[in-house]
Amino acid sequence: MTAVSQPARRGKVTVIGSGIIGVCTANYLLKQGFEVEVVDHALPGSEEQCSYGNAGGICPGSCIPNSMPGVMKNVPKWLMDPEGPLIVRLSYLPHALPWLLRFLEASRKPRVDVISAAMRALHRYTYEAYEPLMKEAGCEDLLQKRGQLFVYESADGPAGGAYGLGLRRSHGVKVDILNAGEIRDLEPALAPIFNSAVYLPEQGQCPNPGRLVASLAANATRQGARYIRAKVKGFEMGPDGPKALRLDNGTVLPVDKVVIAAGAWSAELARQLGDRIPFETERGYHIMLKGADTGLKIQTISADKKFVASPMEDGLRIAGNVEFAGLNAPANLERADILLKQARPMFRNLDVGEVSRWMGHRPGTPDSIPVIDRATRFRNVIYAFGHGHQGLIGGAVTGKLVSEMAADLPTSVDLKPFRVNRF
Ligand SMILES: Cc1cc2nc3c(=O)[nH]c(=O)nc-3n(C[C@H](O)[C@H](O)[C@H](O)COP(=O)(O)OP(=O)(O)OC[C@H]3O[C@@H](n4cnc5c(N)ncnc54)[C@H](O)[C@@H]3O)c2cc1C
Repeated sequence: MTAVSQPARRGKVTVIGSGIIGVCTANYLLKQGFEVEVVDHALPGSEEQCSYGNAGGICPGSCIPNSMPGVMKNVPKWLMDPEGPLIVRLSYLPHALPWLLRFLEASRKPRVDVISAAMRALHRYTYEAYEPLMKEAGCEDLLQKRGQLFVYESADGPAGGAYGLGLRRSHGVKVDILNAGEIRDLEPALAPIFNSAVYLPEQGQCPNPGRLVASLAANATRQGARYIRAKVKGFEMGPDGPKALRLDNGTVLPVDKVVIAAGAWSAELARQLGDRIPFETERGYHIMLKGADTGLKIQTISADKKFVASPMEDGLRIAGNVEFAGLNAPANLERADILLKQARPMFRNLDVGEVSRWMGHRPGTPDSIPVIDRATRFRNVIYAFGHGHQGLIGGAVTGKLVSEMAADLPTSVDLKPFRVNRF
């Protein structure tokens, strides 16, 4: 990306990370009149980023945390099933255990009510926050408001999720319960094996999340953001906080304000600044069937097997799994093949075509919501990470909120639930 200079009105902000959170933040900081630098060793929209390979859901009504009452009942069942949605590599268990205990702790009803309200508060403005950016970037085709469908093989599937449906309704999310015939009318591409469904008509999807990140990055660059291709190793400290970043190429980059939006790698940077945050990579997989045309129009989730089938602009993507194995263990791409095996019976016609497999690192907090806050000790550092399973949904809103914080303006969303000291 080439740099275009723009006069600085408010000073400089350096964003670490160019995934969806980083590029949205860069765009909104520019709107506030900041000079913007983005530092990342990966290219925006590239496969290294979690933002590249997600399922594409952009869902204003997403307000169901991963840790729900009763989750403990399901964990042994999921772990025992070699094809189940949850995997903990045994050697990694001691490392993940404290996080997992906090995850279970977050499943208490009073806590879930608070988390759910926070999720809704963040996500409800996702369209409003993305649309102006997409318009400027010329990629409005990357937001499709087609709804989202959760399908069950049994006739009374939604009854099992009554608490979650109640939460959605209490937050004003439109929920339709469908029977077998209504599922067929809505999504004829699905095989007739589903007998009940929850349809959320207001949800949306992005048919190419990698292209979205790349387009928003290019938009920021056109408006003057400078992209520095390097990895941040650490900070040079001044009396009031970081005064420079130490980069892996040996450069010492002077900074005024810093945003940490480094996805699953963020907690290590925050730790260097004195904030210890319970944080894990929740590794997820996808298999991409390039050119496959099942006729599927709506992002469809198997509520029984916990995977997502997303129609993408270049084929069909099956995504899912949560694997605890850390940032450095090699991917087990057989998980992607298992996703395909599970998804095959879902469609009337599935011509697999060219296949590619991917693993990405979801940046996970145990309570399913991100950290959007200043560093505890340093006002010139803003955290914007930990979006877990919802970073695409939360990307643009987070970018806007961070830009408001950087400009010392009141934030459009109450950020109390997202504070770094909540753990
Ligand atoms: C299978 C799967 C399906 C998903 N489906 C959805 C979905 O449908 N909807 C949804 O909203 N979310 C979904 N998600 C989650 C979503 O993809 C993530 O929450 C989101 O991409 C996180 O974005 P990010 O910008 O924080 O992280 P990333 O996209 O991972 O970007 C972080 C960037 O920081 C850079 N970085 C790290 N360390 C440093 C450093 N020291 N110096 C410089 N740069 C650094 C990295 O190189 C990377 O480019 C899914 C995730 C997975 C795995």
